Amino acid sequence: MQYVVFDLEWNNVYGRKINGFINEIIEIGAVKLDENLNEISSFSSFVKPCIGKRLRGSVKKLTHITNDDVLGGELFTHVFSAFRKWIGSEPTVILTWGDGDIRVLIENYKYLNGITYIPFLTNYVDLQVFVQRKVKTEKGQQIGLGKAAEALGIDDADYSHHRALDDSRLSAECFRKVFDENDLAGFIRPCNTEFYAKLAFKPHPISNLKNPLVDKKHLTYSCPDCKANAHRQTDWKYSNRFFRAVFRCPYCGKMSKVSVRFMRMYDRVDVKKTVVPYIPPETDKENSE
Ligand SMILES: [Zn+2]
Repeated sequence: MQYVVFDLEWNNVYGRKINGFINEIIEIGAVKLDENLNEISSFSSFVKPCIGKRLRGSVKKLTHITNDDVLGGELFTHVFSAFRKWIGSEPTVILTWGDGDIRVLIENYKYLNGITYIPFLTNYVDLQVFVQRKVKTEKGQQIGLGKAAEALGIDDADYSHHRALDDSRLSAECFRKVFDENDLAGFIRPCNTEFYAKLAFKPHPISNLKNPLVDKKHLTYSCPDCKANAHRQTDWKYSNRFFRAVFRCPYCGKMSKVSVRFMRMYDRVDVKKTVVPYIPPETDKENSE
């Protein structure tokens, strides 16, 4: 078993073919590790852009990559065919920091090569998820590579951030710090049809309460002081991703504005509920004018 950690840099450009914006890959860097996690080889290449002619200012500033750099690169098809050869035929687990790089790679393969899967991708680990379980973070917060390295006691002064090869080396170093072969097995995802479907799925809020995925128990509110069910005073109104209604406690009379959001994920619905005291609008003033 070998491990390949890769990282991409990209430029956000307008793609005529899709009538929308696409993140065009401009650089790839990767390291190959043996089963003891020793680096045995590295890969680094600029990718000559086909879709966007100029790098965005923000990209140049973040990466210090110049237009001349990418113009000196090879075309996407050449670079990724060389990358595939470099990976070789040994059983491989591919790792990236967060699945954003995988999404962008799929997008580029589709746009530039007309294929919807990545030929060298058989087994995948989201390194960010694997590392994050060992690093204390605020609940639900995704940790950045730099922060994770810092938390793991890695001196990142030797790495230049936001360059593909250095970022993949830094990711590999985080991987070494938390590595456990048995633990890792649970994080390896086979890159089958479901894998691609899951990546393509875009989480979105549910905007209709008649949707069978809406669990009605979230549409109630209990007064925390009286421990009693408050009565809903208004219809549920949908605005800005949340259903909102006013509730009144029948015992203490307290009015509360309850907001509930149902976010449709690939395999579940995430519910977020917030409650604030209800302040009635000042209608009296308007009436007297
Ligand atoms: Zn009450």
